[in-house]
Amino acid sequence: MNSRALVLERKGVLSLRDIDLPSDLGPADVRIAIRQVGVCGSDVHYYQHGAIGPFVVRAPMVLGHEASGVVVEAGRDVRGLKPGDRVCMEPGIPDPRSRASRLGIYNLDPAVRFWATPPVHGCLTPSVVHPADFTFKIPDNVSFAEAAMVEPLAVGMHAATRAAIRPGDVALVIGAGAIGMVTALSALAAGCSRVVISDVQPLKLALAARLGPIAPVDLSRDDLGRAVRDATDGRGADVIFEASGSERAYPCLFDHLCPAGRVVLIGMPGRPVAIDVVAAQVKEARIDTIFRYAHVFDRALALMGSGKIDVKPLITDTYAFADGIRAFDYACSMRPESVKVQISVS
Ligand SMILES: [Zn+2]
Repeated sequence: MNSRALVLERKGVLSLRDIDLPSDLGPADVRIAIRQVGVCGSDVHYYQHGAIGPFVVRAPMVLGHEASGVVVEAGRDVRGLKPGDRVCMEPGIPDPRSRASRLGIYNLDPAVRFWATPPVHGCLTPSVVHPADFTFKIPDNVSFAEAAMVEPLAVGMHAATRAAIRPGDVALVIGAGAIGMVTALSALAAGCSRVVISDVQPLKLALAARLGPIAPVDLSRDDLGRAVRDATDGRGADVIFEASGSERAYPCLFDHLCPAGRVVLIGMPGRPVAIDVVAAQVKEARIDTIFRYAHVFDRALALMGSGKIDVKPLITDTYAFADGIRAFDYACSMRPESVKVQISVS
């Protein structure tokens, strides 16, 4: 069916036009009227570079994967969702019979189809069809804009889960972009007593410091080692989340870790980086990586609904659907105080 959508035609060229999109409703699917969609760093990267690693845009592709909306139709086998329900959607659909899915690590299914990862169309269009199993009801007190933040928040939630945070831990988050911020929020919700967050952007750090017991460290001015020692009585952070993707984070990474601490690598460096193995060994550091997330959307929504996580301060810029291309051009060169750009589809 032809629908209006924000289409990446090829590297550097966006248009808001009609495009033929699949619209058949399967028995286990729901049809959703899209309300709000967040612009992700990956969308912007495809726009600017036409590829991320092995994923190359070879044909026009609808962008967007951080979405909320309202169910308008439910397939005949759907239980638990009905027209009128406010929802947000998990954008990666695995093959349910794959080995990874059966093991519960469905995010690692090599066959996963993820919105706006070529060649799969995204959700910047007024209506989508999505499996009900990957569609989650929003608590009444959570807005569509907040619900469209669940997708990036899920990355922080998955990282905090992987870090096995214990009550009272102190975390260091490297990088105060959108993912660093949601990781700090997730670490606090998981039981950290405080978070130290580092960046080179004073306005982002100032925003982060308003989100909770979060100590900002401006790397262009302050000494990160001293800040972490001050926050931990000299012992080092229990958990380090690398959320900058900058290779400059790596040379001194383990200096900031306590003995037997955990490191979770979230940011994706543009090329291979060296790791000081011995510095990790003498602390018996546990190093984990994450790729997207699994089994956290319902938990993220529950934390928003209970008020334990507030993402509203991170939604800094909102554009109408008709101004979608402007939204992307802004996201390519955001003011430093901007964190998340969203597009209001309806
Ligand atoms: Zn995203």
